[in-house]
Amino acid sequence: MANLPDKITIRNIAEWTVTDASSLQFLQDHQLISTNPACHRCNANMFVVADNGRKVPFVFRCHTCKAKRSVLTDTFYSQSHLTLSEQIHLAYYWASQTPVSVSEVHLDLSQHTVIDHYNFYRDICSWKMLNNPITLGGIGVRVKIDESAMYKAKYHVGHALGHQTQWV
Ligand SMILES: [Zn+2]
Repeated sequence: MANLPDKITIRNIAEWTVTDASSLQFLQDHQLISTNPACHRCNANMFVVADNGRKVPFVFRCHTCKAKRSVLTDTFYSQSHLTLSEQIHLAYYWASQTPVSVSEVHLDLSQHTVIDHYNFYRDICSWKMLNNPITLGGIGVRVKIDESAMYKAKYHVGHALGHQTQWV
């Protein structure tokens, strides 16, 4: 997996997402999309080929049996309608704690789309942390923990979060 710089700037993001192909390469370099998945029909390796009729203009194609499938199948992005560059931009804005209203304008996306994806990113991070707990502190070490909210996985856009938030 490729290393990311310690500090990621908007110039880095712009460089990585300059084309559909570079966006795909970035996501493959970081193992968010497969490089050569096994064919669902014959188990041979599949390869990326262009398919310009799609919003994400690539598919995996099997050189043995000629089967095709979306590069998004079985990925984090399979249920999204965004392009790959929009996904990378939006994840960057979310990770930078950019308000929904600002992301809407800067990325020219609907409020619904931004909220939906922000919730999705938060749920994935929450799931990862709950399944990979870390130990804080140790013998003789005092740990101070700020309030933080743990959300149950919800995908209801615009749903009031107040009653389902658990403060720890
Ligand atoms: Zn095949």
